[in-house]
Amino acid sequence: MRIVLLGAPGAGKGTIAKLLSIFDGSVQISTGDILRNAVKAKTKLGNEAQGYMERGELVPDSLIMDIMGARLQEPDCKKGFILDGFPRTIPQADALKGLLKKLNLTLDLVVNLDVPREVILDRLTTRRTCSNPSCQEIYNIKSKPPTPDGKCKKCGWKVVQRDDETEEAIGNRLVTYNEKTAPLIDYYQKEGSLKSISSTSSEEIVAGIAKAIKK
Ligand code: ADP
Repeated sequence: MRIVLLGAPGAGKGTIAKLLSIFDGSVQISTGDILRNAVKAKTKLGNEAQGYMERGELVPDSLIMDIMGARLQEPDCKKGFILDGFPRTIPQADALKGLLKKLNLTLDLVVNLDVPREVILDRLTTRRTCSNPSCQEIYNIKSKPPTPDGKCKKCGWKVVQRDDETEEAIGNRLVTYNEKTAPLIDYYQKEGSLKSISSTSSEEIVAGIAKAIKK
């Protein structure tokens, strides 16, 4: 399948993308994970992106399109892809449209994960992430805790709070989402490819997506 996951920070894009990729072998492409790995590895891209990310602002569209233009042409994308955190602005969505056309591909579905603000705020302050760049398993200190000494249950690396999970950065990320990303809901609605799902259960969301794709 080729799908785009839309939703506010904390809506569950990463969790759902991981479940979907296990389900049918499509590759999860998370621009957030790609950027965090670049920051950790101190690459040129990472150095350019770091400040924006720590403040909870969006990285410039041109940087994102350079990454995605190359990523979508890698061989593993032939099996399908789940875009998690991209596109995040109208210019990115327009650029994606052009890129897909060039590659002769179409999207099966755009999913909007519609989660109430209180749930989002609670999740973002209690979320923890595995620090292993090739794992990045997501935990929650209330509902899905790591081991008692704070290690990842999958790979054993330390589980940490992300640098952009301070109260100030979270506030900025939500404002940025409303201004820049929420308009994409209308954008894809007009194209007829949008499915909104308001559930906080991962199983229900995955089942809803599977059903919509079969139609
Ligand atoms: P979340 O959806 O929880 O905010 P992500 O991991 O998707 O987290 O993104 C983290 C940060 O990475 C964003 O706040 C932003 O700075 C940057 N980022 C990720 N994807 C994009 C994108 N498509 N366009 C611009 N910036 C992005």
